[in-house]
Amino acid sequence: MTVRWGLIGASTIARQFMINAIRAQGDGEVVAVMSSSPERANTYAGENGIPRGVSTLADLLSAGVDAVYISTTNELHLEQALAAIEAGKHVLCEKPLALTSADARKMVAAANAAGVVLGTNHHLRNAGAHRAMREAIAAGRIGKPIAARVFHSVYLPESLQGWRISKPEAGGGVVLDITVHDADTLRFVLGDDPVEISAFTQSAGMAGGGLEDGAMCIWRFKSGVIAQSHEGFTTKFAGTGFEVHGSEGSLFATNVMTQKPVGSVLLRTGAGEEELSFDREDLYARSLRQFHAAIRGEGRPSATGEDGVWSLAAAEAALQSAKSGKAVTIDPKLGSAA
Ligand code: NDP
Repeated sequence: MTVRWGLIGASTIARQFMINAIRAQGDGEVVAVMSSSPERANTYAGENGIPRGVSTLADLLSAGVDAVYISTTNELHLEQALAAIEAGKHVLCEKPLALTSADARKMVAAANAAGVVLGTNHHLRNAGAHRAMREAIAAGRIGKPIAARVFHSVYLPESLQGWRISKPEAGGGVVLDITVHDADTLRFVLGDDPVEISAFTQSAGMAGGGLEDGAMCIWRFKSGVIAQSHEGFTTKFAGTGFEVHGSEGSLFATNVMTQKPVGSVLLRTGAGEEELSFDREDLYARSLRQFHAAIRGEGRPSATGEDGVWSLAAAEAALQSAKSGKAVTIDPKLGSAA
């Protein structure tokens, strides 16, 4: 069965990655795109070989679609997801799922009640590098995990220096943009859930409107593991990485907090150093493959709606901590879902 996709949002991420990822599936087709502007809808459809451009949600949902991919600005995700779910469509939604974890939980509850698949597009779970790290840890190759460090401070390209750095009402700021990914990737790689976070944020000169463009967080996990993470929009030369240190070994991943299947993972133990090999499949194509399988009733999306609630609850707690100057408990009001 072909999965007929409707795109909600004429976005950069859809153009750069997701349209190709859908088309990379033997059973995936993009049938329509919705923009709030009829002109942009038609131009985007034409430029990307999409048969229809529409400018209302009702038109998109009645365009014969089985599933929708939501990549509008963050304040719109909730309303659009609930409408799509009500129309019986499967929903792959960009992170953050909503502006609050309470709203994200409404999306999960609605999808469960309607019996449709809801996924969160946390692409990093689909990176071979992160899967290799998760497998090495689960196999005991670093012994008991003790601490992790995430280096995820980048330079926001000029073309994306819009709502992210100027519109709090659209869910701008580096915490809702990047800390959510770090929350999800830490959970996935460690197979553990965070319980507490302490954060400092900054405005280093790029973001306005009271938004943060840099964050440093300290995390405590259920098992006792502690972690630190650095997210930013303003560092041109920092590079990215992810380290996990255990009682019997350490994992050093370089250039892995990215949208491409690149980077390397080194395992260092008493036996010496070993470069871990991993597959280099496109992250978004793998995410789509899992999502299509979930629609067929085979397994779950690589990141579920519940995972999206967790990452947003962590980001929310980080923002609250930065404001209050105190450590904050992370409570997604869900069962363990790591
Ligand atoms: P964009 O800024 O490219 O698009 C967001 C919205 O902005 C679009 O839906 C569109 O509205 C509007 N827009 C785009 N271009 C123009 C324009 N030229 N003039 C006026 N309005 C315009 O956002 P991104 O693609 O960077 O991000 C979209 C979502 O995806 C966010 O939720 C973000 O967090 C997420 N994201 C996720 C990534 C991941 O790897 N998982 C990576 C990047 C983003 P309309 O549809 O009404 O035309």
